[in-house]
Amino acid sequence: METQKLPQSLEKALSRLTANKAHSTGNAAQCAISLPCSACQDHKGIRLENDGVFIKASLCSCVTTCKICAGTCAKPESGGVIDCQKPSPVKIVGLLNDAKIPGRYVDASIKNFSNFTGSGKTVMAQIMRWIEHFVPGKSSGLLLTGSVGVGKTYVISAVAKELALRGISVRFADFYQLVNELRDAYSSDGKSMSPTKPLHDFEVLVIDELGKGRNTEWEVSIADSLISDRYNGNKSIIASTNYGLKEGNTDATQRTIDLWSTGPQSSNQMNAESFENLNKRLGPRIFSRLKEMTVFLELTGADFRRH
Ligand SMILES: [Zn+2]
Ligand SMILES: [Zn+2]
Repeated sequence: METQKLPQSLEKALSRLTANKAHSTGNAAQCAISLPCSACQDHKGIRLENDGVFIKASLCSCVTTCKICAGTCAKPESGGVIDCQKPSPVKIVGLLNDAKIPGRYVDASIKNFSNFTGSGKTVMAQIMRWIEHFVPGKSSGLLLTGSVGVGKTYVISAVAKELALRGISVRFADFYQLVNELRDAYSSDGKSMSPTKPLHDFEVLVIDELGKGRNTEWEVSIADSLISDRYNGNKSIIASTNYGLKEGNTDATQRTIDLWSTGPQSSNQMNAESFENLNKRLGPRIFSRLKEMTVFLELTGADFRRH
């Protein structure tokens, strides 16, 4: 049978009808966040930039100009308010700005880590699986050891960013800087206060260069209260350290690590001996808590700062 061409007016009417039908079967009206945006791409609705010190996050114009939610990323529905996307980009922007991640790592991501001169490939695969399974307060944290320039700060910054993008509250801090800040706060206040107070509320604390400094009694006591606070509050910790490499230890990447078990007593089958330098530096009390709370990972490779 020959296909007959419909009169133009009828064709138009028909296409309007089909369009209406498609519309009514889906969600009534879609938030702009569900549409592709070239400005925010993977970070749905969120723009990231380096403000010179920290990573600064803001809502993308695709969200702020959205006709459905007017930048709130929430809409009234059946008596309540529901987020257009979970976690809400509005919440994530707040989490990223509170995280204080170094601005120079604004583009850092585990999948883009490229120092494969040592254990990089294996460790990044482990960290990616760790992120997928991470539950704050339940999963083990991470303790990343490795020599200077191998990329530890890049890695833990990328992890901090990824956790915030997943709606987890996280705070990044450089240990040495933290010690100084807390000392200043302590001496200007004059009275005894809990030095870990402002950090306590974060689900995850990320400490860069744990143990760095002159290793004074004060510094060790700060490390002790930070880690005890995490331990007692059942909160997670991620840390990097230059300490803990035993000379001649080359089998770190061969260790089988139980990354995705939950609970502080997870069976990390790591070689604790290779971390004895950190043990010596911070003392057995802090070290044994770290051992309970984290999975030990060793990142080896060339010093990328020299290239
Ligand atoms: Zn919207
Ligand atoms: Zn956008």
